[in-house]
Amino acid sequence: MKVCKFGGSSLADAGQVAKVCDIIVADPDRRLVVVSAPGKRDRNDTKVTDLLIACANRKLTDGAAQEELDTIVGRYAEIQEALGVEASYLESIRADLEERLATDFGSDERFMDAMKAAGEDNCARLVAGVLNARGHKARYVSPKDAGMVLSDDYGNAAVLPESYDNLANVGGFDGITVFPGFFGYTRDGAIATFPRGGSDITGSILAAAVKAEVYENFTDVDSVCAADPGLVPDVAPIPEITYREMRELAYAGFGVLHDEAIIPAVHAGIPICIKNTNSPDAPGTRIVLKREHVSGRAVGVAASAGFCTVNVSKYLMNREVGFGRKLLQIFEEERLSYEHMPSGIDDVSVIVQQDTFTDEAEAHVLARIRDELEADEVSVERGLALVMVVGEGMHFTVGMAAKATKAFADAGINIEMINQGASEISMMFGVKAEDREKAVRALYGEFFG
Ligand code: ASP
Repeated sequence: MKVCKFGGSSLADAGQVAKVCDIIVADPDRRLVVVSAPGKRDRNDTKVTDLLIACANRKLTDGAAQEELDTIVGRYAEIQEALGVEASYLESIRADLEERLATDFGSDERFMDAMKAAGEDNCARLVAGVLNARGHKARYVSPKDAGMVLSDDYGNAAVLPESYDNLANVGGFDGITVFPGFFGYTRDGAIATFPRGGSDITGSILAAAVKAEVYENFTDVDSVCAADPGLVPDVAPIPEITYREMRELAYAGFGVLHDEAIIPAVHAGIPICIKNTNSPDAPGTRIVLKREHVSGRAVGVAASAGFCTVNVSKYLMNREVGFGRKLLQIFEEERLSYEHMPSGIDDVSVIVQQDTFTDEAEAHVLARIRDELEADEVSVERGLALVMVVGEGMHFTVGMAAKATKAFADAGINIEMINQGASEISMMFGVKAEDREKAVRALYGEFFG
């Protein structure tokens, strides 16, 4: 069995939903289908999930949200009418949204997740309806009935281990099962959503649970490319990439697949194939456990801005047992996740996501580092971009760092930080955010030019 997942742009309107149905029925092994909520129809459009968030916020502030609700129902109506699905489907969607708006879920965050989940939930019912209307045997399955159990971190939930056993037979139906992505239920029965873009995670969990032959992830690009096509013209497509390489690229901004979607499939040894709904015959990109590596060859270059560095200096830091632990404990107690920690002899830098490091957090952390660790100097630098060149083939290859640093030097880019993990699967460079695009082009030119 193949598990296939269709993203929001693949379900944005009736024309796209029709393509999705054609793709599903073109291969009899595509029996378990995960859908997102309808996404943007064009650049200026709004995703149904964002409409639902706006609707929930309006209800919380004004007590009613009729206009927002009508807009959302309108998105489904366009699909229902054009594809000949019975009008009762639309009535159920309206009733479902009205019920969610009227229900007391016990807290604002639970209410918000219940509203967000409505996008995928109703889309799955409608896609099953479209397949039925076209004469195919298809059913909708609820994540609650199927046993998709998540942690109670609303808006940022994680799958709980029992889900895999619960879901093992979810594809055991002699037709097509349509499953909504993005949400599940807590052990207490409350609706909880994954982080945004989380339908990819649902697909990966299902693929692992049913031991699928492949997890096909349909999106709106022909394949994953070796760099952002918006930055590099004629960029090379990547036919095959390992899970670890993809994870690194996803971390540094490759948005094709949610980075949390890789692990469930990886653990179950299931290949992931990225494919294009708008050109389903294109080979796509296969994400696999192992592949042949050409020594010294990189697979991709990625960059992401939005980081900042907390620089700490203290004379004889290298001899002070426990300094690193105490420093990280401050970040932990301030509930800040750290990304990297490059260090020197008497200094260390802690890199954090800029949007989590508010002015208030900065004031607390800096004061604590000065007082509790008696640091000589503490400073913060904002506006850092992390640029990565990734490839398992770089392992043990002499001269990779020299190539990268030469590319930066030739482009006149100052390197603020260099970091390489023990796995040598990637090299990471910190540059000023304004140099991000130039840095990607420079590295791409050097490694792929
Ligand atoms: N609809 C959700 C979002 O927009 C989840 C997804 O599309 O994967 O984030």
